[in-house]
Amino acid sequence: MGLLDGKTALVFGVANKRSIAWGIAQAFHAHGARLGLSYAGPALERRVRPLAEGLGIDFVEPCDVTQDDQIEAVAAKAKAHFGQVDILVHSIAFADREDLARPYYQTSRRGFLLAMEVSAYSLVALARAFKPLMPPGGAIVTLTYYGGEKVAPGYNVMGVAKAALESSVRYLAYDFGPDGIRVNAISAGPIRTLAAAGVSGFKTMYKMFPLLAPLKQPITQEDVGHAAVFLASDMAAKITGQVLFVDSGMNIMAFPDKDTLTREFGAG
Ligand code: NAP
Repeated sequence: MGLLDGKTALVFGVANKRSIAWGIAQAFHAHGARLGLSYAGPALERRVRPLAEGLGIDFVEPCDVTQDDQIEAVAAKAKAHFGQVDILVHSIAFADREDLARPYYQTSRRGFLLAMEVSAYSLVALARAFKPLMPPGGAIVTLTYYGGEKVAPGYNVMGVAKAALESSVRYLAYDFGPDGIRVNAISAGPIRTLAAAGVSGFKTMYKMFPLLAPLKQPITQEDVGHAAVFLASDMAAKITGQVLFVDSGMNIMAFPDKDTLTREFGAG
């Protein structure tokens, strides 16, 4: 028996097989959900369609989340195809590369607004468009990173956008609560994806991560997929407005232990 048997899920943000969204789609499939996928634009179709076909997914629609008409169109198509949508996954972010490579105070007005629009506002726009399709018991899940709470050097404007996204999760959870729709975020540790490649210093952070995190293990797409199944399922029926860390415990650490500092930095 799957935790998502009888539920329909629409997953936004599959770019390729490394995408966190794809890890979530695979886990949802394994737990019995009926799936639809959405990707950013025509350039990605040739990568996303074969993935979808591999899982027998027949709803695969482009949607640039900066365009309200495209959001409305995909919601209308989902209504015609599925009738209702129980689960909505938002796994989308974007910032200009140069804004992730120079000091935060040099972020341009255009770069700030772009990162906010794609990475934070899009959750609000998608939630609004899909609310009429979501029954009581519905769940919205988005992806965030600890750089929205604490300074992660190089994460810059994306960290500020994640702070707005996490706050939006709480406000949306409040708005949607009376309708029985839950809204939560997963704060994932580093995973090698297209989006992560744009963050300066990511490779070093990725390498150091298992040395510093309490569980001493890297984070995988599967780890995030499993957490998303939980949050989207009735097992999490009374959980809303939360940020769930899937990070091998990294967020509880105030400072690396002495052995790691000595080994990696020659300190002590
Ligand atoms: P990814 O595979 O590159 O996914 C990011 C997705 O956002 C891509 O499908 C991308 O499409 C899409 N996107 C960008 N602009 C869009 C737009 N205007 N309209 C619609 N879609 C758009 O990378 P990922 O790491 O899986 O990222 C997924 C989410 O997880 C993001 O919110 C990210 O911040 C978060 N996250 C990632 C990590 C990590 O270490 N990888 C850790 C914590 C949280 P294009 O490729 O066409 O731009």
